[in-house]
Amino acid sequence: MADRANLVEVRNLKQYFQVSGKNFFKKDCVKAVDDVSFSIPRSSTLGLVGESGCGKTTTGRTLLRLYEPTAGRIVYDGEVIFDSGDVPLYDEAGNPVTDADGKPVYGKKTRANMLPYRRKMQIVFQDPYASLDPRMTIGEIVGEAIDIHGLASSREERHEKIIRMLERVGLNSEHANRYPHEFSGGQRQRVGIARALAVDPEFIVCDEPISALDVSIQAQVINMLEDLQSEFGLTYLFIAHDLSVVKHISRRIGVMYLGKLVEMGDSYEITFHSCHPYTKSLISAIPIADPETNRHTHRIVLQGDIPSPVNPPSGCRFRTRCPYAEKRCAEEEPAWKEVSPGHFCACHFADSVR
Ligand code: SF4
Repeated sequence: MADRANLVEVRNLKQYFQVSGKNFFKKDCVKAVDDVSFSIPRSSTLGLVGESGCGKTTTGRTLLRLYEPTAGRIVYDGEVIFDSGDVPLYDEAGNPVTDADGKPVYGKKTRANMLPYRRKMQIVFQDPYASLDPRMTIGEIVGEAIDIHGLASSREERHEKIIRMLERVGLNSEHANRYPHEFSGGQRQRVGIARALAVDPEFIVCDEPISALDVSIQAQVINMLEDLQSEFGLTYLFIAHDLSVVKHISRRIGVMYLGKLVEMGDSYEITFHSCHPYTKSLISAIPIADPETNRHTHRIVLQGDIPSPVNPPSGCRFRTRCPYAEKRCAEEEPAWKEVSPGHFCACHFADSVR
């Protein structure tokens, strides 16, 4: 059922958290990720954008099974690593698989042992200050990953691998004996990338890897990630809240709002032919260097805050902030439709918004 052109496939992924609510005796349910589906072809980048709290980081971590999914199916390199058993199977063309009676066929309940996948599926964390152990040297931090997966047969090989990784991310052998507090934010993020690379991964979830860095450093880290992708054939899920960053590095972009994917398509399509009002507002927020063009650009400023995921709005979740909202939006959840080849959108009025 898995398409081998895709390294990663996610179907109807859900991640619900139980949290304490106003009622002492009853827990509330936060639907952090709600029915999210996408696939990532080998050696390509899928960008995931949305405001803080929209569920993009939770999606990345659930995909790696750092959080155990509530429901859905995750397929990695043709192997099912999680299946809740209630998600229909799809053929390679994306059509539902049916039995002789025309009824949908469901996947088998699966919870694979993640140990063989941990080396292949890595993550670079957002905060380069918090993600490195301050008591360990940089060499120990990178070497620990090599030790866990038994990737060096001697001390010399281990040392040589650590130095090679540090040099590959723009550091050098002298840095191996220093501690994280001796480095700048950009250098620490390079260490985080070296640590992920040290175990020869195939897939990396880049969880807002540049948002804590100075603007001057951001481009360097993005360029480095692109170079590493070409060199090692890496596949990325690149998570960020800034669409201007994501559109540069991603072949395809998914836009999330309040736990749901609202639009997905090629980077160019999303940037120039978006048809979801939320995506349009994100695009209109991208600064334009030319004052003349900027003067003629209509900026869509969203009113109000993002609603609580404990009690999301009925129908379309974006309706409380949407400038195009109508009565139907409160009554009916918009379907996930293909508006042009490979371009999907969940809005009742996608054609007129476009
Ligand atoms: Fe806006 Fe309605 Fe479209 Fe939702 S379905 S994005 S509320 S127009």
